[in-house]
Amino acid sequence: MKPFSYARAADASTAIGLFARHADAKFLGGGTNLVDLMREQIETPAMLVDVSGLPFTQIETLANGSLSIGAAVRNTALATHPLVRERYPVLSQAILCGASGQIRNMATVGGNLMQRTRCPYFYDRSANCNKRQPDSGCDAIEGFNRMHAILGASPSCIATHPSDMCVALSALEATVHVHGPLGTRAIPFDAFHRLPGTTPAIETDLRADELITAVEIPPLDAAARSLYRKIRDRASYAFALVSVAAAVTMKDGAITDARIALGGVAHKPWRAFEAERILVGASATTSAFRQAAETALTNARGYGHNDFKIELARRTLVSVLSELTGTRGAR
Ligand code: SF4
Repeated sequence: MKPFSYARAADASTAIGLFARHADAKFLGGGTNLVDLMREQIETPAMLVDVSGLPFTQIETLANGSLSIGAAVRNTALATHPLVRERYPVLSQAILCGASGQIRNMATVGGNLMQRTRCPYFYDRSANCNKRQPDSGCDAIEGFNRMHAILGASPSCIATHPSDMCVALSALEATVHVHGPLGTRAIPFDAFHRLPGTTPAIETDLRADELITAVEIPPLDAAARSLYRKIRDRASYAFALVSVAAAVTMKDGAITDARIALGGVAHKPWRAFEAERILVGASATTSAFRQAAETALTNARGYGHNDFKIELARRTLVSVLSELTGTRGAR
């Protein structure tokens, strides 16, 4: 690990000021991903501004009915909070599918949004990787790409986003609140993470000197009937091959609202807008779910080892919708 300076901030303004005074600084939350990357010298910041002690630790209902989650809330605290379990079960389930208990105890909400891909070539400094070293190539495209993207990838990068929590937040249409030298702003969740395009090293809409302060989830009737399912190579401590976060409302056997996001399939949590549109107004039947799944995966493309993910994603989505709506067996 390369030597670095360290400072602990007590409030957002101090953190942003410290960041601005040091070239090549990074904000440090729980450190569960960043410290690993520093050990491997994938990240080599000269300065760490520790924001884990900032007073962004509240989970509270706002006057507009939204749930506000402070960026320094630990993943365990969020997953087990009564308001989350009752109003947004898909979020609690997604977090509990991710990592070990020890890591969830350390990891913060803000850090979870900023975690980087687990593409093995990204971690291997002898490999070509456009994300780690722009314009060096991508060894995953012709390499072992079982874990890689099937949607939204580019010739520059086929990496996936590793977070489970973010898949649920995508389906729940969260908003990310940030604070920087120019003030505060709110970023819709679907616009927060980026597709790789020709610049896979740029992963979010966040400017380098901006700090995540909170995530806000709107009141959503569908969220009460919501589910997260993660398909992985082993029962725990594994990243998703495919995951689905879904929420629906129903009336008289028909779907009146639907929110769907897929994980493990793209450089960002993949919101399946077209599939949602197909479902709203449709009867809750297996054929409607299959049509939605076909639509969600219409533009999917495999790279050899990960071809199986396309059908796996379809089947997982159909299965989740069937379970959510209690329509198993209905054609
Ligand atoms: Fe790097 Fe992306 Fe290619 Fe992985 S998929 S080697 S992260 S450029």
